[in-house]
Formats: sequence, structure tokens, C-alpha cells
Amino acid sequence: MLQISNLKKHFGGVKAVDGCSFEIKPNTITALIGPNGSGKSTLFDLISGIIKPDSGNIKFNKENLTNLSVEQISNKGISRLFQQSRLFSNLTIEENLELALNQEDTKFWKNFLNRNNPDNKSTINSILKLVNMSQHKNKKSSDLSFGQKRLIEIARSILNPHKLLMLDEPVAGVNPKLRNTISRVIKQLKQQGDTILLIEHDMNFTLNIADHVIVLDNGKVIAEGTPDQIRNNKKVLEAYLGD
Ligand code: ADP
Ligand code: MG
Repeated sequence: MLQISNLKKHFGGVKAVDGCSFEIKPNTITALIGPNGSGKSTLFDLISGIIKPDSGNIKFNKENLTNLSVEQISNKGISRLFQQSRLFSNLTIEENLELALNQEDTKFWKNFLNRNNPDNKSTINSILKLVNMSQHKNKKSSDLSFGQKRLIEIARSILNPHKLLMLDEPVAGVNPKLRNTISRVIKQLKQQGDTILLIEHDMNFTLNIADHVIVLDNGKVIAEGTPDQIRNNKKVLEAYLGD
């Protein structure tokens, strides 16, 4: 589904992504792991088009993404959860999700003005139910705990039609109970046909949920395989201990 070939992105002297190649198969959960600064978030920025590679290729369903805009890439069906929160703190959960529906600029205000549209309401209600947050929909997002905000951001990233969902550290800083909810949601999304690319620092979480694991170090893939293969890989241990 997604094919990354020899991708490079340098920031001055920092080789953030340095000749990276890998593939993602449809309807799988792939985890991208690696020490801090190994290039994981930069790879997400490259895939979603926020930054452009110095060289190399990104293909999504055989179509080259490297010359497309952020909006065009998102319209191809690539959705993303950011590492940092992007909710409007003064709006309710429901309002935040209403704004996120069909987020293109042209539809933004139309959508906001049209917020009593029953189709929008039912989409939002079913997604809130999936993430177990229905009872909080009229709260302001500033009144939620960190983990609850994370769940709403996940809800937001799956609200619009998509094929590939990229999650950047969905459970970092989240308590164990909500971690389990997030894990359940990710598995359920896969069952519904989604393909998921996940960055996560928590090894237990990652190795429990992933079908395939790709390990980055200094912008390069140093290992990939099943969770069991990665657990016992010497290079991976060295990269993490070095970190
Ligand atoms: P990770 O997500 O794996 O922790 P990042 O992709 O955020 O790593 O960063 C990889 C490297 O690139 C780091 O050394 C980081 O400091 C550097 N980097 C990332 N973005 C920028 C930028 N916009 N300008 C300069 N350096 C950057
Ligand atoms: Mg990161």
C-alpha cells in the first residue's frame, strides 16, 4: 500500500532521514520504532507532505506522493494523529469534531454553520462511541485529562474517510486504563479494514499490537520483522541501549 524508497531528508548537517526504504501492506498494523531523534516523526512529515524529501520516493497505491500538497495527500486517504495536541481548548468535544469533518478550507465554515446536519451528528456519535467518550461530548476539551484528549484526537483522525492512519505516539503520557482503550480502538480499526502505521516509544504496547515492526536508527532502517524477531534482535537492543 505504501512504498518508501531511498528517502532522504537532511536539516543542515542533521541527517534526519537518510536513505530509508520500507513497505506497508494493506490492513496491517506496522510499528515504526527507534531511539529519540532517529527520524520517525520526520518520516511522518514526509509521508503527509508537510515537508518534501531531498531525494527518494513515496508511493501510495502505486501513485507517487512526493509532488503532491498536504491537502491532496490527505484526500488520497492518508490521515494522521500528531505528536502534539491540536484541539481547540475553548470548544466542546463535539464542536472540535464538527470542525474536523471535511476539513478542507472551503468546507470549514460551511460545516461549522451546518453543524446540526444529522449526518454529521451520527458520524460523530458513532466515532465517540468507538473511543468510549460519548458521555464527554459536551465538555470543553480543556476539561479533559491528557489521555482523554488523546482519544478525542484519535477520533478526529478517523472521522473522515481514510485508508492509511498514521499515529505518532498515541499512548505517550497516557494512563494504563486509557492505554488499553487506545489499544482496543487500534485493533478494532484494523478489523474494520484500516491500515495503521504507528510510532510508539512504549515497547510493550508496540510489540503487543503490531503485525510488523520497522526499526529506525539515525534515519536508516536497521531491522524489521515480526514483534518476536525484533524482541530478540541484537542490533535493536544496541540502538536502544546506546540511546
Ligand atoms: P524522532 O521522531 O524519531 O524522535 P525526529 O524525526 O523528530 O525524530 O528528528 C530526527 C532528527 O532530525 C533529530 O535530530 C531532530 O533534531 C532533527 N530535526 C527534525 N526536524 C527538524 C527541523 N525542522 N529542523 C532541524 N532539525 C530537525
Ligand atoms: Mg517523534
